[in-house]
Amino acid sequence: MSPNSAPNRRSFLARSAAIAAVPAVATLAGGALAEPASADTLPDYAPIPPSALGPAVNAQGYFAGRVEKNLYWVTDGAYQAAFLTTRDGVVLFDAPPSIGHNLQRAIDQIAAENGVSNKVTHLVYSHHHADHIGGSSLFGTDVVRIGQVQAKQLLASENDPARPVPDVTFETKHTLNVGGERVNLAWHGTNHTPDNSYIHFPDHDTLMLVDIFLPRWVPFDSFNLNEDVPGSIAAPDTAMAYPWKHFIGGHMGRLGTRADMVLYQQYVNDIIDGVKKALGTVDPTPFFAKYGNNVWAAAQQYLAAVVAYASGPVIKKYLGVLAAADVYTASTTFAILESIRLDLGFGSQVHP
Ligand SMILES: [Zn+2]
Repeated sequence: MSPNSAPNRRSFLARSAAIAAVPAVATLAGGALAEPASADTLPDYAPIPPSALGPAVNAQGYFAGRVEKNLYWVTDGAYQAAFLTTRDGVVLFDAPPSIGHNLQRAIDQIAAENGVSNKVTHLVYSHHHADHIGGSSLFGTDVVRIGQVQAKQLLASENDPARPVPDVTFETKHTLNVGGERVNLAWHGTNHTPDNSYIHFPDHDTLMLVDIFLPRWVPFDSFNLNEDVPGSIAAPDTAMAYPWKHFIGGHMGRLGTRADMVLYQQYVNDIIDGVKKALGTVDPTPFFAKYGNNVWAAAQQYLAAVVAYASGPVIKKYLGVLAAADVYTASTTFAILESIRLDLGFGSQVHP
C-alpha cells in the first residue's frame, strides 16, 4: 500500500457509507442492480477537469485550510464544513457525518497551529439534511446549536438523535456574536430545502450556502434534489447580492469564486433555454400514436426525447469545464423541465 492509498481509500469508504442505502433499495426493487456490480462493466465518463479538484486530503482523510483570517474550512473531498476560531472558542458550521470525527481533528490541528481554543461552543446548521449535520451529536450537549426556525420544526419531526434540534432559531435574520466575531445568518425563502440559510461572514469576505452551487461541478442528481426548483434557480442571484470573495458550497474539494458562480448560472440558463426550445420543437404526436392508451409510456418517451434534445448541447458545451457534466446534466434537465412545465406553466395548453 502506498502512503497515499490509505487516506484515499478511507475517504472513499466514507463516501460509500453515505450512499450505502441506495443499492439496498435498488435490489429490493428487483432492478438491474440485483446482480453485483463489476468495475469492468460499469460505464466510463469524461475525466474530471483539474479545475474541479481541490487540495489532497491527509492521512486521516481530510484537508483543513484557511479561507480568510480565522475562518477555516475542512473537506473530505465530497463534503465541506467550516469553522471560525475566536477568543472564546470555536464556531462550527455544519457537521457532515462523512467527515465525522475528523471535524474535531481538523479543529485541533488548526487551533494548535494558532495557539487558540479548540473547544466547539457553537454549531450552526445550514439546513436540516442528515448528510450535512448528521455529525452534530458528536459535539455533545454542551454546545449552542443555531438554525432557521423551519430546521427546528423539521428536525423535531424527524426525531434523529444524530441531529439535535437547534437551541437558538431565527426566522429571517440573526447576527451571531461570539468572541469578538460576527456572522450574519439569513433566510431568503425556500430553495434546496425550506430552511436553507445564507451564512455570511462580513469580516472574512465569505458566503456559505449549501447544496445550491457546487463550485466547478454540475449539481448532484436531479438538480441537487432541490425541493423548490424556481427558488433554487433564483438563489445564486441572492447570493451574488452579498459582498464576498470566497464561497463555501458544502460539497466537493474546493472553494468557489464569484466567477465560478457566474459560470454555474450560465450552465443553468443554458439548460432552461434548451428546455424551452425543446418543448417548442419535439413533436409529441408519434409517442402517443405508438403507445395508445399507455399514457405513461408515451409521456416517458416524449419527455426523455425533450431531455435529450435540451441537454445534449449543454453536455457538449460544459464537458471539460464543469466536472461530471456527462453524469448528471440529463437528470438536472429533467428536474428543470418539470418545473418549467408545472411551476411556470410553460407549454401548457387548454383543451379547446
Ligand atoms: Zn441538502
